[in-house]
Amino acid sequence: MVIVMQKGASDEARDRVLREVATLGFTSHVSEGETRVLIGAIGPAPTEEVREHLRALPGVESVVRITKPFKLASREFRHDDSAISIGGVVTGDGRFVVAAGPCGVESREQLRAAARIAQAHGAHLLRGGAFKPRTSPYSFQGLGEEGLALLVEARAETGMPIVTEVTAPELVEVVAGSADMLQIGARNTQNFALLAEAGKSGMPVLFKRGLSTSISEFLQAAEYVLSQGNPNVVLCERGIRTFETATRFTLDISAVAVLKELTHLPVWVDPSHAAGRRPLVGSLALASAAAGADGLIIEVHATPEEAKSDAAQQLDEAEFGALMPRLRAVVQAVGKSM
Ligand code: PEP
Ligand code: MN
Repeated sequence: MVIVMQKGASDEARDRVLREVATLGFTSHVSEGETRVLIGAIGPAPTEEVREHLRALPGVESVVRITKPFKLASREFRHDDSAISIGGVVTGDGRFVVAAGPCGVESREQLRAAARIAQAHGAHLLRGGAFKPRTSPYSFQGLGEEGLALLVEARAETGMPIVTEVTAPELVEVVAGSADMLQIGARNTQNFALLAEAGKSGMPVLFKRGLSTSISEFLQAAEYVLSQGNPNVVLCERGIRTFETATRFTLDISAVAVLKELTHLPVWVDPSHAAGRRPLVGSLALASAAAGADGLIIEVHATPEEAKSDAAQQLDEAEFGALMPRLRAVVQAVGKSM
């Protein structure tokens, strides 16, 4: 169960709850949010009497019973959708958000050209990897801190908040110093040290599902960020590994519907990495919006064939420009706005 303390409840009230919870045989877990403290109490299924007793303690707002292995992420904990602000762009409140930009930041000119395309066609956020987790150590690894500086420049020029990946716990501080949203990639879905560090940063996190992570494992991993008192997690389905080889990964479109059922967190889709090929990206993007996603992260490059990573899947201006009005129509058809 989770004991939600009232806004501004005293330390004394919190300590009293912790003592009672321990006496009742539960292990407690405190998460200090910006405005209130949550106390997770893990142990035997609490009886109604136990919950009543805790609810009556000074400073307690509510006591919520949660049966799922993921607690703070679950709809049992919070019934209504969470809205999260990413540098002023809000996701999860019924507005559909598009983050667009190159796979990797390669140069000032390349990023500027991609950012211009993203902005001209209505994207809300600029994506671009400065630290790139690559399957082979011999592939382009990203420009690192120089890439972050170029992203900051592009934000100043366009006004678009930036989303960029952080690949290791020791890089959270430096990436958080520049980015508006930290991306945690599919290869790091269960890097618990990284998740905890991203949690401590308090920054919005775009959290991608791993290549072979079940939905329950994905949500339990998200809990590592949330349990640090950071509620700003956006989940992202980006394709999983199956026997199918016609696409780079199999976009688990049903995960969107399942996640919307299980969690209050916003759910985005990355159609680019799932598709792996430009002609397929648009269809997957439209399907994602139709399935109820709250946003997309999509790769765009002025000259995709020259890209240093993921050349086959990055949309050029004509393709991105053709997709956006179709996406807007689907978004409106399912009752959201863009
Ligand atoms: C990316 O967004 O560039 C990326 C590497 O994605 P993923 O972690 O989903 O493979
Ligand atoms: Mn990529």
